[in-house]
Order: sequence, then C-alpha cells, then structure tokens
Amino acid sequence: MTTIIDGRQLARELNAKTQQRVAQLAQRGITPGLAVIIVGTDPASSIYVRNKHKKAGQLGIRSVVRTFSPTVSQTELLAAVAEYNADPTIDGILVQSPLPAGLDERAVFDAIAPEKDVDGFHPLNTGKLFGNLPGPYPVSCTPQGIMTMLKSLHQPLAGKRAVVVGRSNIVGRPMAALLLNANLVVTVAHRYAQDLRALTKTADVLVVATGITHLIKAADVKPGAIVIDVGMDRDAQGKLTGDVDFDAVSPVAGAITPVPGGVGPMTIATLMQQTVDLCEWREQRGNN
Ligand code: NAD
Repeated sequence: MTTIIDGRQLARELNAKTQQRVAQLAQRGITPGLAVIIVGTDPASSIYVRNKHKKAGQLGIRSVVRTFSPTVSQTELLAAVAEYNADPTIDGILVQSPLPAGLDERAVFDAIAPEKDVDGFHPLNTGKLFGNLPGPYPVSCTPQGIMTMLKSLHQPLAGKRAVVVGRSNIVGRPMAALLLNANLVVTVAHRYAQDLRALTKTADVLVVATGITHLIKAADVKPGAIVIDVGMDRDAQGKLTGDVDFDAVSPVAGAITPVPGGVGPMTIATLMQQTVDLCEWREQRGNN
C-alpha cells in the first residue's frame, strides 16, 4: 500500500503548533512580525504573497506587504530592506522571487540581516547549513518543510540513498544539504546529468524539483521509494501538476506527495514556523 503524504493535513498540524507558540508569545506581549516585499504584478507571485499574508493573519502573526512597481530602483529596494532590518517589530523579511530583470536579486537577499532571513537565502545561513554547523538558523522553507514530511513517515533515514533532481539555491541545493546533514547518502542531479533515469532508480528517497511536467515516470523509480514532488507545473489544460507522473508512479512508490496538496502547503506552514522561530530566537538573545 502506497502512503500518500498529505501535505495539507501536515500543514494543518504544523500551523496549529505555530498558532500555540504565537499565543504563548502574546502572553509575554510579543507579536511575531513578517515583512514581505514584492516587486511587480506577476500573477503567480501575487497569489503566493496573498496566501502567505492570509495564513500569517490566521495564525496571529503580523504581516506587512510592501508592493513596488516593476520600475523600482535597486537603491529603493535596498532602502526598504534596511528599514525592515532596523524595525524591532519585524522578525522575518521575505523578498518574493523572482525579481524583474534589471534588479540584482542576489544583492537584495544578501542585504537582509541574517537573523531576519526567514527564507534562509543569506550566504551566512546557507554556509551554516552546508557546514552542518550547530543552530539555530533559518533554512530555505521548501526543503525544510520536506524534512518535516519525511520525519512524519517515522522511517529511519540514515544511510539511505537520496537523489535530488534540481540544484537551485531555493530547493535543490539546500535539500541536498539537509539530507546530507540527516546522514543520507546524497546524489544531486541537474540538467547536465547523463542517464538521469539510472540515478533516480537508485533512490530510496527521491526529491524532484525541476519545473518539468511529469519528468519522472514509473520506470524511473525504485519500488518502495519515498517520492517527493516539488514541481508546481501547468499541464496542457492549465491544471496544476508536478514533476512526477503521480498516477503512474504512485503504485510503484512506497510513499509519495501529490500535487497539489503536497509540498506547497508545507512551504507556507514552514515559513510561518520559521517566522516564529526567528521571533523566539530574538527573545532568547534578549533584544526585544
Ligand atoms: P529552477 O528553475 O531554479 O531549477 C530547476 C533545476 O532543474 C535546475 O537546477 C536544473 O539544472 C534542473 N533541471 C532542468 N532540467 C532538467 C533535466 N532534464 N534533468 C535533470 N534536472 C533538470 O527551479 P526551482 O526554483 O528549483 O523550482 C523547481 C520546481 O519546483 C518548479 O516547478 C517550481 O515551481 C517548484 N517549486 C515549488 C515550491 C513549493 O512550495 N511547492 C517551491 C519552490 C519551487
């Protein structure tokens, strides 16, 4: 029997815990604050930002969204980041990716104070992750949410073979680091991989983040594998689907995430969790 990993249910459970932590902070007069910066009117980005803002509100997190026109200058954007860096009511700062062409996204991410870097994209935080240094520090929300999903299966993971398909800074690379830190044996594949299928077939844990609709078919998966589909793709009919051919692969897999209802809800729930983490860590450092 294949386990369908229910991202919506796991996100509900995580959000309930986050809400409790927010309530405990409220008893001490503290409200976690999240600042979201969005540039332009890309429909997908606007939906993500709206969903994040709504979820924050539901959990008692104060969220502020600042929208800039696509013609905003790099200087104005950096000034907004600097303002939130200095704002004691803001615990986490998120700049919605991608920024329009002409803006230096890396420079904007790097300008976020590492202790407010709720997406875990700052080089100091990625460096700690890749060095497996002791925490706490924020980690990219999608792979962190996937680790929560893997833990929910209550299966020993140390020594298992993981294959991560995709090496983006947001998903593939931090995913590989988290799996390595959890003592899996990790291979990272990408667009230059020769014989991708021979690699994916060896995976006990297969994480796919390419943006290519149904790249992974039944024959590419080891029977019994845990298959995590990060893709958020549109099929020919415009329907949201994943990088894994769910209908074909699920009879082969031991456990699998659906799209929608898998990794997506966990990403937002992890963002909320991490906003509260940052708030609690700030309180522990005593700079409230
Ligand atoms: P990206 O475009 O930055 O990276 C894609 C990666 O796939 C690259 O590293 C590339 O080398 C690799 N790749 C491309 N073609 C390949 C091939 N034929 N074989 C092997 N590897 C190949 O994308 P990203 O930001 O990592 O996102 C990947 C997917 O995940 C997208 O569909 C995106 O929408 C989705 N995503 C979902 C969430 C979520 O919360 N569910 C979060 C982030 C991204």
